[in-house]
Amino acid sequence: SQAENMLELDCLEVAYGGIRAVRSISLHVGKGELVSLIGANGAGKSTTLRAICGLVPTVGGDIRYDGRSITGAPSFTLVRQGLVMVPEGRGIFGQLTIEENLEMGGYSRRDLNAVRQDTEQVFALFPRLAERRRQSAGTLSGGEQQMLAIGRAMISRPRLLLLDEPSMGLAPLMVEKIFEVVRTIAAEGVTILLIEQNAKLALQTSHRGYVMESGEIILEGLSAQLLDNPKVRAAYLGEE
Ligand code: ATP
Repeated sequence: SQAENMLELDCLEVAYGGIRAVRSISLHVGKGELVSLIGANGAGKSTTLRAICGLVPTVGGDIRYDGRSITGAPSFTLVRQGLVMVPEGRGIFGQLTIEENLEMGGYSRRDLNAVRQDTEQVFALFPRLAERRRQSAGTLSGGEQQMLAIGRAMISRPRLLLLDEPSMGLAPLMVEKIFEVVRTIAAEGVTILLIEQNAKLALQTSHRGYVMESGEIILEGLSAQLLDNPKVRAAYLGEE
């Protein structure tokens, strides 16, 4: 039901000029759920996330966050309401220190002591960042930058966290670490919608999943069932 869902997309449509990138998709993410949205390059996953965050306009359908329509709401008001995205490419500031990047995550919060406490929690979660707190973020490895981007999102106290391809461009060991953190954050009660091209890891990590192809959702179900689905295995897990 509506009260139990943190996010509901109802026949969402997004177009870039004449290109219909998202064609009437419906999905929901329950409170406390970790849901993955998988699909090939260009399927429309990032566009879906950007529409939820108010970064691209929709041409049809409705987006509801915690029971209320947020269709067309500007992204800065959504961040204040706890709807936070970690973008593809991470969006960190290379010239600023790690600490300064994390501070940006707390910019809309008034209680600076609480922000400081949250910052220490992020450092506890990512000891690598703590060791390098006064270093400029541009000197971090790709995986460390991804940790920083997730850490910064955590400091804005998300209720719904949208992750766009957190595994992108990372070595397998680092990908494992990032997904471990995603599980930890989910276990703390944060609702997560995860977008991934690494379908196997995404489905192994999430409760439920949606498969997107050419702007449409073609399959949905429990992640364990999708992992067993012959079509998913053939098209997305590289198996016969
Ligand atoms: P990727 O993993 O490459 O990000 P994706 O599943 O997230 O893939 P989208 O980035 O949402 O897919 O792209 C969906 C479609 O919209 C593609 O055909 C893409 O070329 C097109 N598209 C994306 N961004 C724009 C844009 N700013 N202007 C025009 N077309 C775009």
